[in-house]
Amino acid sequence: MTQLWQLNLAQCSEGLKNKDFSVTELTEACLKRLTETEPAIKSCLAVLEDQALETARDLDRRGNDSSRLLWGLPLTVKDVFCLKGAPTTAGSRQLSDYYSVFEATVVRRLKAHGAIILAKTNCDEFAMGSSTEFSAFGPTRNPWDRQRVPGGSSGGAAASVAGFQVPGAFGTDTGGSIRQPAALCGCVGLKPTYGRVSRYGIIAYGSSFDQAGPLARTAADCGRLLQAVAGPDAYDATLADCPVPDFVNQRPLKPNELTLGLPRQFWNADLHPQVAKVLDEARNLLTKAGLNLIEVDLPNIKYAVAAYYILASAEASTNLARYDGVRYGFRQPDPGDLMELYTKTRQTGLGPEARRRILLGTFVLSSGYYEAYYRKAAQVRRLIKNDIEAALTRCHFLLAPVSAIPAWPLGSFLDDPLTVYQMDLMTLPLNLYGGPGLSVPAGLGDDNLPVGAQLWGKPMSEASLISAGRVLESLWPKLPEPQIPVI
Ligand code: GLN
Repeated sequence: MTQLWQLNLAQCSEGLKNKDFSVTELTEACLKRLTETEPAIKSCLAVLEDQALETARDLDRRGNDSSRLLWGLPLTVKDVFCLKGAPTTAGSRQLSDYYSVFEATVVRRLKAHGAIILAKTNCDEFAMGSSTEFSAFGPTRNPWDRQRVPGGSSGGAAASVAGFQVPGAFGTDTGGSIRQPAALCGCVGLKPTYGRVSRYGIIAYGSSFDQAGPLARTAADCGRLLQAVAGPDAYDATLADCPVPDFVNQRPLKPNELTLGLPRQFWNADLHPQVAKVLDEARNLLTKAGLNLIEVDLPNIKYAVAAYYILASAEASTNLARYDGVRYGFRQPDPGDLMELYTKTRQTGLGPEARRRILLGTFVLSSGYYEAYYRKAAQVRRLIKNDIEAALTRCHFLLAPVSAIPAWPLGSFLDDPLTVYQMDLMTLPLNLYGGPGLSVPAGLGDDNLPVGAQLWGKPMSEASLISAGRVLESLWPKLPEPQIPVI
């Protein structure tokens, strides 16, 4: 018999509408599943059990309201979204006791649409990382193999969905942090266009890249979640002032209506044999179904990792300057003087990766080096944008691997940051460009680890991107459920 926690968002919504079960029953089922699997996965930093149950009972009392897109649906949010009544830590010791006095626009809109937020999920400190191992509160485990990373930085979000704790989650993607953990855990992840979703109330990392987006078990579910949060917000001036289309009810696309561009630089890259095998098979299935696959060129892509890490670190060093022990969070007790208050607070409050980024960012912005590094990187960003724009004139979407390797064993790269940076090659160019991307599970390798592929689209093309994702989903093998020991 299907358990309530096994249902996806659309199925939960349908069941609630038909009164097959109540919001409280659904919430209790997900909370039970979460509690049972959490010792194995460790996806959450805070479980909001009381708040969730109270909201659930309240929704049941008032009755279903079909104008609310997420009525009664249990979700998690990454711990970079400010939410009242629970700490917002961003995975950092610096913010371990930080209670926000306001809520992120995303959280506010989710609640207004009737969603129930069950937990805040683990992430790399300030969303800097690709494995969730840089969380000050310990790593999250991959639901498919608990000795492996879930990806990052939204690793807790991906693990909570892939581990069937909740049917949907919100994360953020600055350089791949929604798409890569979605691929490594075997769920769907959507990075919206920069400017589609408000950044208000999200702990900032790289403000010209950061974008919040959903993770779920189907592309259609991601569309529903995006629908609830997208659109202008008086608190974020970078939002595009354009109408939000219907992401939920789009005309289904036929496979032969789609032309996908395959960037030569990614498909010819050194892919792990299991990744190559799954993606070859996935590509064959597309060709057989009548999709038109063409090869495209992104000539400047080899500079993307360097450009991104210069620009994102520069923005991070500026954004993280506020954690000085005076205004927010952790403060070094009994400092000798003001300088010692600053330095000791930051040495103790911030982990090694955040400190590395701050140092790198401060260096590339410093006088004499600004022209050589920051400005150059900004120019390279333009070249990469031009490359992607040109490739997208020849096809509807680009299709690319997400990660060259499947989920790796915990600890493998902890002392090798450069290798991990380079592994972002196939995700971060999209953030330099600004368009939307959708990561979809392409299959399981012989090692029983999921492999994902992603679509990239022109800015504001999410509606057709989701339709295209549904085509891939219908052609690619559906992943089984990962076996997780429950207590
Ligand atoms: N891995 C990338 C980084 O460390 C991306 C992180 C993200 O998207 N938040 O910067």
